[in-house]
Amino acid sequence: IFITIEGPDGSGKTTILQMLAQNLVNEGYEVVATREPGGIEIAEQIRKVILDPENTAMDPRTEALLYAAARRQHLAEKVKPALEDGKIVLCDRFVDSSLAYQGYARGLGIDEVYSINQFAIENMMPEMTLYFDVAPEIGLERINKNKGREVNRLDLEKLEFHQKVREGYMILADRFSERIVKVDASKDLDTVYEQAEAQIKELINS
Ligand code: C5P
Ligand code: MG
Repeated sequence: IFITIEGPDGSGKTTILQMLAQNLVNEGYEVVATREPGGIEIAEQIRKVILDPENTAMDPRTEALLYAAARRQHLAEKVKPALEDGKIVLCDRFVDSSLAYQGYARGLGIDEVYSINQFAIENMMPEMTLYFDVAPEIGLERINKNKGREVNRLDLEKLEFHQKVREGYMILADRFSERIVKVDASKDLDTVYEQAEAQIKELINS
């Protein structure tokens, strides 16, 4: 089973994914918890290039292609083998991030960015995507409080950009409503976790 978690920066994806994975492992499931961009060596190297605060000259199309390249390698090397072994794969970000950030917020077009990703993923889409919805003001405030978090190029973006990302996610949640489940991520961690866990249980038991 392939499940992805999406949402803006500071929506709690990383923390809650770890909690969900731990819980599933405790219940005896075989779980692979991973993230994008990254998750394996080659993709982590691509991630460094994309997010390097010094790479201010990065062209938006280059950025979109690098995300798709990192995604391809991660899928081929880690996600696909795990799914073939019958494991549950929980992934922090996937193709919807590219559609919301590069497609919508950067203005490259959702359909255009989808088409380069189609080449990268060959129709391997998640069964379910949990979209952690939260206002960017709240997300950014949480990030600023989290001192251990790595600084990246996107931290330099204005609030306006993050508002567009949210709009992009809303459009996707509407368009792919059979796959994307919206979770209110403005709530406290335990509440968000419970909502997410209930959705995963429903999928596993269906
Ligand atoms: O989720 P994570 O914190 O690992 O993402 C790293 C950064 O990359 C974030 O600031 C996120 O906004 C950005 N990003 C992006 N476009 C994507 C995926 C992530 O701008 N397609
Ligand atoms: Mg995160």
